[in-house]
Amino acid sequence: MTFLAYADPGADASGNPRHAVIGYEPEFPPVTVDRTPIVPLALPFDIGPSDEPMTLEADVVVVGSGAGGGVVAATLAEAGRSVVVLEAGPFVDEATMPRDELDAFARLYLNYGLLATWDASLTMLAGSGVGGGTLINWMTSIEAPAAVREEWRRDHGLADLDDGHSWSFDIAALEDELSVTPVRRFPPKDQVILTGAERLGWEVGSVRRDSPGCDDCGSCPFGCRRGTKQSGIRVHLARAAAAGARVVPQVRVTKVLIERGRAVGVQGRALVPGTDPVPRVRDVIVRARQVVLAAGALRTPALLQASRVGHGAIGTYLRVHPVPVVAARMTMPVDMWHGPMQAARSEQFADGEAGRNGYVIESAPGHPGLLALALPWEGIDEHAHAMRDARYLAPLIAVTKDGGAGRVSLTRAGRVRIDYQLDTTGVATLRHAATRMARLARAAGAGEIVVAATPGIRFTAIRSSAESDAAAYGRFEDRVARMDFRPNRGSVFSAHQMGTVRMGARPRDHPCDPNGRVRSRGRRERLVAGLYVADASLFPTAIGVNPMLTVMALARRVARTVLAES
Ligand SMILES: Cc1cc2nc3c(=O)[nH]c(=O)nc-3n(C[C@H](O)[C@H](O)[C@H](O)COP(=O)(O)OP(=O)(O)OC[C@H]3O[C@@H](n4cnc5c(N)ncnc54)[C@H](O)[C@@H]3O)c2cc1C
Ligand code: SF4
Repeated sequence: MTFLAYADPGADASGNPRHAVIGYEPEFPPVTVDRTPIVPLALPFDIGPSDEPMTLEADVVVVGSGAGGGVVAATLAEAGRSVVVLEAGPFVDEATMPRDELDAFARLYLNYGLLATWDASLTMLAGSGVGGGTLINWMTSIEAPAAVREEWRRDHGLADLDDGHSWSFDIAALEDELSVTPVRRFPPKDQVILTGAERLGWEVGSVRRDSPGCDDCGSCPFGCRRGTKQSGIRVHLARAAAAGARVVPQVRVTKVLIERGRAVGVQGRALVPGTDPVPRVRDVIVRARQVVLAAGALRTPALLQASRVGHGAIGTYLRVHPVPVVAARMTMPVDMWHGPMQAARSEQFADGEAGRNGYVIESAPGHPGLLALALPWEGIDEHAHAMRDARYLAPLIAVTKDGGAGRVSLTRAGRVRIDYQLDTTGVATLRHAATRMARLARAAGAGEIVVAATPGIRFTAIRSSAESDAAAYGRFEDRVARMDFRPNRGSVFSAHQMGTVRMGARPRDHPCDPNGRVRSRGRRERLVAGLYVADASLFPTAIGVNPMLTVMALARRVARTVLAES
């Protein structure tokens, strides 16, 4: 409800009155004249009886068009394969990008942005549309750390992921394709990180991202009208389309067709155009010798389960980066919705230690709906009061490296169920991260600090007495260090999901082999011929940093396997 109250742009030109109260004035870049070259394939809905499936043929069908799907589609189409990309979400080009949060969540986010674990304790975000997460993400572009890749080599049998091998080559190629460069300007929310870290003597640096030549408007979570964000519709899917790939939006694949142990295509439901808000669908079948699943870590395992691929570990090993949130109230306006999404980050605590995992401190670019969702709920007046300060709030988040275990499963009704439980180390990590973010905020000069929880944990600086101020802060930090992270107490978010069909050398607990080929069962090596996974599901473990670049690097690896086996 709080999200809707603040995300709604308002029914008429006067807009949402709450936006005027909090001083929210978003900026929008002009629409680029150099629009995406993608022209989605129009399915022949008017041909044949409506209860018969429409059928397409291709060498390869790619399911899902996000970070992984886009890279695979580009590689295979440019190598001369006939490729069909099926995407459950809509196609939205620069001219039709949303201009407000409500529309953005309705069109470009999985489950309309209302995504959470079964017990509602972990709020999740994921993209859905042609481009998937790349369309709406915050563009921070970092490869998996060397220590994680070493762990993947040692414990999961993934070779060639160290520097100097195909990994470095893939990352260099991706950074070039995505024009990854350091951010040029630090907006006030990131100045808080820079100032606080410098005063505390902590490590701090600038963020590298795939959006060269802009650092102003901050509308990136709605998709980029100017076209500077190097999302799938600008880079990989655009290249795939230029090489002849057919991109078909609004087709939800329901199962992989498997005959005599070999994938032969997929079946799905296509939305009949113009039938919103009472949608009508028609079945589609794509026949292909190779099937690449790239529907993201929350949907690829469900598709394999629906297709009765019998490997018992499919859907288990869900890993996320649990994120606690601290809001720092500054004396000058911060306007967190303007400027680069994430410009500064501190890796001071990136290495874990006994009893806690590593984490990275970053800023979060909230617009009012997301901010309203993140702020503690303690009653209407209290929430409205907190929102009135929105312009002055600097949101800090910690991307923590894992902290528990989860699973994705299909319910009897065919719905996707997500479960995740924090473990002791995960809770210790969240507490550690929340206290350090509070210290950072205080060092940067915050007058008030709120740790997101139900109820929120607050500190207000006492300017009149340094002694009382220090004592009050000490009590506050003690409370944060003991924070309750049982379900629906301490607020936890995550936009990074991975690991549900993890790759590795052991047939029993890696549903994919080290090249992304799907195993049909765990007891001994047996593959479903022609079936591959190429998305965040493949990660053997959580990586502790923003995952897009790593998803893409693994997708390049899988694409090479697909080519070699075609
Ligand atoms: C708000 C937000 C901010 C983020 N910021 C960053 C960042 O700054 N840096 C970073 O590295 N990462 C970031 N991420 C994470 C990153 O975007 C994801 O990790 C990445 O996109 C995952 O890639 P993927 O290929 O696994 O899946 P996705 O990119 O999620 O793509 C999966 C696609 O499959 C489609 N799909 C699902 N089911 C079906 C089906 N049955 N049939 C057909 N299609 C289907 C979905 O609609 C979706 O479009 C962010 C994510 C979010 C949500
Ligand atoms: S990438 Fe973001 S800040 Fe840059 S023009 Fe696009 S929407 Fe605006």
